[in-house]
Amino acid sequence: MRIVQKYGGSSLKDLDLVRMVAARIHKTVQNGHQVVVVVSAMGDTTDELLNKALQVDGPSSLSNLDFLMMTGEMQSAALMAMELTRRGCLAQAVSGAQAGIRTDQVFGQARIVDVDPKFLESLLDRGVTPVVTGFQGVSVEGFFTTLGRGGSDLTAIALASALKADSCEIYSDVAGVFTADPRMVPQAKALEALSYDEMLELASQGAQVLQTQAVLYARQSGVTVNARSTFESQAGTRIETLEVDAPRPVTAVALDTHLTKLGLVGVPDRPGVAARACERLSEAGVNIDLVFQALSHENARADIALTVADRDRPKAVQVCQATLTELGGLALVVDGDIAKISAVGFGVRNHVGVAATLFRSLANAGINIQMISTSEIKVSCIVARQDAQRALNQVHDAFGLDA
Ligand code: ASP
Ligand code: MG
Repeated sequence: MRIVQKYGGSSLKDLDLVRMVAARIHKTVQNGHQVVVVVSAMGDTTDELLNKALQVDGPSSLSNLDFLMMTGEMQSAALMAMELTRRGCLAQAVSGAQAGIRTDQVFGQARIVDVDPKFLESLLDRGVTPVVTGFQGVSVEGFFTTLGRGGSDLTAIALASALKADSCEIYSDVAGVFTADPRMVPQAKALEALSYDEMLELASQGAQVLQTQAVLYARQSGVTVNARSTFESQAGTRIETLEVDAPRPVTAVALDTHLTKLGLVGVPDRPGVAARACERLSEAGVNIDLVFQALSHENARADIALTVADRDRPKAVQVCQATLTELGGLALVVDGDIAKISAVGFGVRNHVGVAATLFRSLANAGINIQMISTSEIKVSCIVARQDAQRALNQVHDAFGLDA
């Protein structure tokens, strides 16, 4: 079999771990498999590099910033290839550019344009195990680029697709995708399998298992991804094309505690008001998470509430204040003490009563719902942040996810 194995930074925190992972890779090779290794930077290296850059001048020189950021992965690839070779498993460190990963030129957030696996194929043909630096490529104009934080996942999936690998394994310190964050819900279980769409909903809901861009690439190229732990032997979770009608109404529950709610109170109830508020936010580069307008008051005024990521809060407050003044609204309410609970699953669209079960379980726990939003495979509620953990456990229980 041809296997792509990606190891994250927490699996490569120090040289002892590099040795342990190398032993594992070596064993797979000895079992007769062709392995293409993809590595992240060791531990917190990427954050440390970013900090150094900020102390010098980083952000004004994005092409040079990417050049610096790449070096974390280059170190871990070189060390891993050396350790493999020392063990008697011939290995070669390979950069993203050498691995044929060509990207656009959006520094720090580049998209893969195409992958030419010629060089990797030639190494494999000679019995050499390539150890590829994750998270990077080269633009058509010849500049080195990086693929966004967590981008080594994308490298692994893109290579698995280009090399027609039989398996793409993403190793980290968690045993896969769980029915809820196990640090918050002790009864949470690792899922055997879920669909790309469910994974995307969970990723954007704050379940940080795979880079979103990587899941999109996997969905588009049809690569089955196996997310599993470096440190435990469980099979992990498959992220794949699941066409079957899910027997379960809900696959997992996600929690996002990094949101702020903004309320534009008493804005005129006439066409164009919501448009104006949202346009100004998007012009300022603020992504709106949920938006919701309450029924009109008798005096022809309405309330608009929306949620944004905490990191966008200062910008959002400024923009909403300006919009409120422009429109002649009454007040701006800002509430950072919120959390979003989402029940996610393919079953949501063909099981009646998912929303009712969710609302009832929160009601039984005496937890007030502030906002609601639904999509084809998700129902979300905004609750007070202090209720978040309790709400998550309630909902997890209500859908029988611990069974
Ligand atoms: N080292 C990069 C990061 O920390 C890429 C990765 O780990 O996937 O974001
Ligand atoms: Mg990562």
